[in-house]
Amino acid sequence: MTTQATAAVLYQVKQPLVVEDVEVLEPGTHEVLVRWVANGVCHSDLHVITGDYPHPLPVVLGHEAAGIVEKVGAAVESVKPGDHVCSSYIPSCGKCGYCIGGQPTLCALRDKPRWFMLDGTPRFRKGGQGLHHFLQVSGYATRSVVLEEGVIPVRKDAPLEVVCLVSCGVLAGAGPVWNRAKVPPGASVAVFGCGGVGLNTIQAARLVGAAKIIAVDVLPKKLEWAQEFGASHVVDASREDPVARVQAIAGGGGVDFAFEVVGTQRTIEQALLSTHRGGMAVVIGISPAGTRLSIDPMLLVQQRILTGSSFGAGHQRTDVPMLIDLFMDGKYRLRELISRRLPLGEINHAFDLLQQGEVKRSVIAYD
Ligand SMILES: [Zn+2]
Ligand SMILES: [Zn+2]
Repeated sequence: MTTQATAAVLYQVKQPLVVEDVEVLEPGTHEVLVRWVANGVCHSDLHVITGDYPHPLPVVLGHEAAGIVEKVGAAVESVKPGDHVCSSYIPSCGKCGYCIGGQPTLCALRDKPRWFMLDGTPRFRKGGQGLHHFLQVSGYATRSVVLEEGVIPVRKDAPLEVVCLVSCGVLAGAGPVWNRAKVPPGASVAVFGCGGVGLNTIQAARLVGAAKIIAVDVLPKKLEWAQEFGASHVVDASREDPVARVQAIAGGGGVDFAFEVVGTQRTIEQALLSTHRGGMAVVIGISPAGTRLSIDPMLLVQQRILTGSSFGAGHQRTDVPMLIDLFMDGKYRLRELISRRLPLGEINHAFDLLQQGEVKRSVIAYD
C-alpha cells in the first residue's frame, strides 16, 4: 500500500526543483510515516542544488522539518500516530559507541548512506522510479518516511510551522555555544556570518551572558539583524579587516571564542586568527567539498583550539525540546527568525531569496 505526497524533486543540479505528486511507500518495521507541516530553507539544501555538495539524484531535499506522525512500523516504540515531531537529520540510535559515549550527534548511523532507509532502499517512487531521500528526512514533501531514530518528539502546544527551525539552523547555531565552547558569563565572542544560523549563535551567546558579542558579515542588513538578536558590536568585513577590528574591540589579543558560520577557507582562518592565545574557534558553516585551510601551526602551539560542531554538538533528543521550551517561555526568539513563509509551489523562489542574502530564514509551509 502506498500513500501520496506532494514533493519538490531535484532531478539535475543547477535546475529548479520540480513540485509534483509522488508515491510514498509504507514505513518499514523501524520506520515512521510523518505528515510534515513545515520545513525551513537551509543552505545545505542549496549546496546540493548548486552541486557544491554532490548527492545522488533525483532527490527530495529538506532536512529542517516538523510534523505529525501518521503511521509507525511494527517495532517502533518511541512515537505513535498523532505525536508531534521535529526531524533529526542526524539520527541517534542510543546504542553505538558515540551515543553511549555522550556524543549522539556523531552517531554511527551517519556511516550508512543517508539517501536511503537503513535497508538500502528508498520510500519515494515516481513513475516506477525510486527517488533518493536527503539525510533521511526529505521535508520538502507533504509526507515522508523517516527512521525512528530520526524523529524527536516535541510538545503539542508548540507551533510546528515555527519550531521546525530548531531541527537544523537553530540548534546548529545555538548548541555549540554551550555544548562545544561552553561559553561562560562575561566571555568575549565573535560570530563570522550572521544569517539564519549565525543569528542563533549570537542569540545563544547573549543567553549565556557573554559580555562582548561581535558580529561579522559583509551585508549591512545582516549586521542590523545581528544587533536585533544581541550583538554588542558589528564589523563590516567588506570595509575593514575583520581580524584586526575584532582584536581591537575584544582587547587582550583577541576574543575568547570565535564561531564561523559561513563555511569558507577565508572566514575559518579569520575566525581562528581573531582569537587570543588559548582561545577557541568553532566551525559551524558547511564548506563546499574540496575546501582546504592554510594556517600557521604556531597558532595551535599557542594553545588555540580549532574545532567544529555537528547539529549543535550536544544531545539532539534533549536539546531540541529544551530550545522549544525556551521559545514557549518567551526566552528564545524563533518567530523573529522567519522572514518569509511560502507554499511548496514557491520553493525555487525561496532558494533565490536565500542565495541573495535577502532572508534570515524562509519556511515552506504545507496547509
Ligand atoms: Zn540545515
Ligand atoms: Zn548511535
